[in-house]
Amino acid sequence: PFDVLVVGSGPAGASAAIYAARKGIRTGIVADRFGGQIKDTLGIENFIGTKYTEGPKLSSNFEEHVKAYDIDVMKAQRVKSLAKKDFIEIELESGGLLKGKTVILATGARWRSIGVPGETEFRNKGIAYCPHCDGPVFKGKRIAVIGGGNSGIEAAIDLAGIVEHVTVLEFLPELKADGVLQKRLYSLPNVTVLKNVQTKEITGTDKVNGITYLDRATEKAHHIELEGVFILIGLVPNTNWLGESVERNRCGEIIVDNHGATNIPGVFAAGDCTTSPYKQIIISMGSGATAALSAFDYLIRN
Ligand code: FAD
Repeated sequence: PFDVLVVGSGPAGASAAIYAARKGIRTGIVADRFGGQIKDTLGIENFIGTKYTEGPKLSSNFEEHVKAYDIDVMKAQRVKSLAKKDFIEIELESGGLLKGKTVILATGARWRSIGVPGETEFRNKGIAYCPHCDGPVFKGKRIAVIGGGNSGIEAAIDLAGIVEHVTVLEFLPELKADGVLQKRLYSLPNVTVLKNVQTKEITGTDKVNGITYLDRATEKAHHIELEGVFILIGLVPNTNWLGESVERNRCGEIIVDNHGATNIPGVFAAGDCTTSPYKQIIISMGSGATAALSAFDYLIRN
């Protein structure tokens, strides 16, 4: 068995594997896609110490760093279940079985998409999912936020301080965000809230130039000209494969304590698949390091 078996090789998994391997213990990392979400990211401006980089470049830096250690890298493998027996067993979709004395779950998350025309085409060309990442790119511009839940309204409030104007589009007749957020939102001068509307299309040429929506009460279509669209209709953790094996919250996030420990002894978790707040690269990397050091601590005590 591996001393530490890491599942997922985004920022959290890469960091966990390097921290584990540096302890001189037998480390493996198994994942479907090396790099995770950063593979889909263009500009990254908040990776501290690096003013600007791009996702694919950062991902190959991670891979190069991982390969500098004696880490068993298993790529293009999807995992399908976890069971605690003598060791912790991870079953692969390909039929293989991996065993670890400890396991670190770092399977990340994905932003829910709305599936309208233009969404795929203009991704990274005016369509964004993360206000902390891409807010400053839209400084002084007109944007829309799709989604009236907590994450959408937090984003709208945040972005209103940076951009010229924010239009919030909510499908339901009412916003779902907490009252205090709604109160703050409605106090802002440069925000328009549209409720009971359905986004039909994100328009553009080489980049976003507008959004078309349907007023669900009148069934009339409207078009707004703007330069950016933030889609905030939910972040889904990649944890369904765990079933009932590891404790998760209502949203499917793996419940961890501040050592990255889950409810199963020897199973740790890190990054966007966990209850750790704020889903960001440096936060995932930090939690990957925490989980690896906790796994090492567990090994020397058991
Ligand atoms: P992920 O990056 O999601 O990696 C998950 C890993 O698990 C992958 O290797 C995946 O293949 C693997 N995996 C998942 N399920 C399975 C399975 N069943 N079997 C095997 N392997 C599996 N953050 C910033 O800090 N700055 C930014 O500028 C920024 N921009 C972003 C732009 C976009 C478009 C997106 C989508 C995200 C952005 N983020 C940004 C967020 C950041 O990318 C994430 O917070 C970070 O990647 C999370 O790292 P992670 O390792 O927890 O998970």
